[in-house]
Amino acid sequence: MDLHLLKAVATPDERDAVDAHLGLPTSGWDGGARQPRDAHTAAGGHQARAERHRLLPALHAVQSRIGWISEGALNYLAERLTVPPADIFGVATFYGLLSTVPRPRRVLHLCDDIGCRGQGGDTLCRTVEQEAGPAYHGPDGTHHTIPEATAWMRSPCLGLCDHAPAALLTEAGPTPVARLFGPVTAAQALAVLTGGAGPAGPNRIRIPQAGDPDLRLLRRVDVVDPASLDDYRAHGGYLGLRRALEIGPEAVIREVTDAKLAGRGGAAFPTGRKWAAVAGQGVRPHYVICNADESEPGTFKDRALMEGDPFAIVESMTIAAFATGSERGFIYLRGEYPEARARLAHAIEAARRLGLLGANVMGRGFRFEIEIREGAGAYICGEETAIFNSIEGFRGEPRNKPPFPFQAGLFGKPTLVNNVETLVNVLEILRIGGSAYAAIGTEGSTGPRLFCLSGWVERPGVYEVPFGASLRDLLTLAGGVAGGRPLQAVLLGGAAGVFVRPDELDMPLTFEGVRAAGATLGSGVIMAFDDRVDMLDVVLRIAAFFRDESCGQCVPCRVGTVRQEEALHRLKAGRARGGLETELALLEEIGLAMKDASICGLGQTAYAAVESAVKRLHLFSGAQTG
Ligand code: SF4
Repeated sequence: MDLHLLKAVATPDERDAVDAHLGLPTSGWDGGARQPRDAHTAAGGHQARAERHRLLPALHAVQSRIGWISEGALNYLAERLTVPPADIFGVATFYGLLSTVPRPRRVLHLCDDIGCRGQGGDTLCRTVEQEAGPAYHGPDGTHHTIPEATAWMRSPCLGLCDHAPAALLTEAGPTPVARLFGPVTAAQALAVLTGGAGPAGPNRIRIPQAGDPDLRLLRRVDVVDPASLDDYRAHGGYLGLRRALEIGPEAVIREVTDAKLAGRGGAAFPTGRKWAAVAGQGVRPHYVICNADESEPGTFKDRALMEGDPFAIVESMTIAAFATGSERGFIYLRGEYPEARARLAHAIEAARRLGLLGANVMGRGFRFEIEIREGAGAYICGEETAIFNSIEGFRGEPRNKPPFPFQAGLFGKPTLVNNVETLVNVLEILRIGGSAYAAIGTEGSTGPRLFCLSGWVERPGVYEVPFGASLRDLLTLAGGVAGGRPLQAVLLGGAAGVFVRPDELDMPLTFEGVRAAGATLGSGVIMAFDDRVDMLDVVLRIAAFFRDESCGQCVPCRVGTVRQEEALHRLKAGRARGGLETELALLEEIGLAMKDASICGLGQTAYAAVESAVKRLHLFSGAQTG
């Protein structure tokens, strides 16, 4: 393949950042000095191209060393990986946390998403804007030069809704820093912008039920030392894997199937069927992916598990690998979770040292390795096939199905993808048995479930209940509406979920219960809004979120999310085209087109919350029209 490189040259620092990740070039094929033998063999070229899956980590390496990715750095990466520069540019510009235009080394990301904006996030952003200037959009945007000090940017949900308003500070350099903290005040944000370190972190995860003996998924969180493998084992850790190795892969899958475990990431697919489908594929190798790209606004339950019980993720992935015949696993972690990354990396290393990962797990001749791959600020990468593209070094765009992941997933091989919470449930299934597990909850929704309570509640945090508890039960557990104010609405399931009214609180939180009510549990978001909240502002933020996060691959979603937002703005301004009824009909038509014709769940659910606000909350009844 002819590779046309750019003239731009990487700086020594940029080359060093890339080489530190990829190793030094070894031949003319991967950017090194041309050797006479290179001309006679194409093997080196194949080898270099096979390294493409290291592109995103390499882009991270440059971003976190320099603060942005220059044309020279892209060019050097192109040379090293034998990928055209335009292709690499397409990948680099796909992710919100990466920048291909100059950016200062320190950036303060302030969350202005639905969970934070009403909890002071919007006021915070406006104060910071007044005092420190506009949010940074690059030197050719609002800034003509790169600010020398820290710049600030607005951010979608940072997964810290229990400590709203949230902030993420990133600082590039030889020892890069990334720190998630909250609740952040204007004074603290301004201090950071003038060079201060910001409040000490990380924040403790809010687990109001911590220590409750009835907990199953959260029983170790806030109780055991998440850095101690001994502590984990003293609290039942690795009994699940031991049992799995004793009973064998088929019996493990039978237990998971008997438990009727359904996926907790949003789609609720039967986990046992997924495992059996991957295990039954003759093609090798098989892969296991833990989907830890928790980016649904209002969701932070997986963060609680990863930071509070990281060995549980490592152990449950190892069980999944054993059951499905996989030797390699990836944790695809959202890039905004530095603390979770550190704790998982430590857990993986500690497990490896003790022979709980590696070439001979527990001395039983079973091989399994786990690697963490960090996302870089793209909500769509939570979609399972988008994860494959992202890990393989392509833009994180979803793939058409079929083929399904169990047939041809990561690197075209059979792949199991499970969400963090789903995997942790497997430990409980092996502890008490599939049938006993199936007796928890209801006939159609078995086991315990985590919910993220946020917004206007007294005690935000992650809560665990058996399936079947009502929305009212959950709000009561969280202390009810903050300050005892009247409840206006609850967003159930996240931005891709629906709004429900105060008279619907007795809805049972089961898959069948919410389905009957025309709602969804999604990723377990329960965000309450009191009577003072401007719900149109919330709906507009959701519409802007989908417009930003659409990967743009298919027309109904790419165009529909923009048209949806425009219609909502017209309605807000009292300039409905052709009158209120006509504008609402247009909104519905756009929503239906997105639902019916989009490739993936993002486009298919981008109208859900808007529709529920219009139809359930009667958002525009009595609105002025033009
Ligand atoms: Fe991309 Fe939207 Fe199409 Fe999904 S529905 S593939 S996010 S454009």
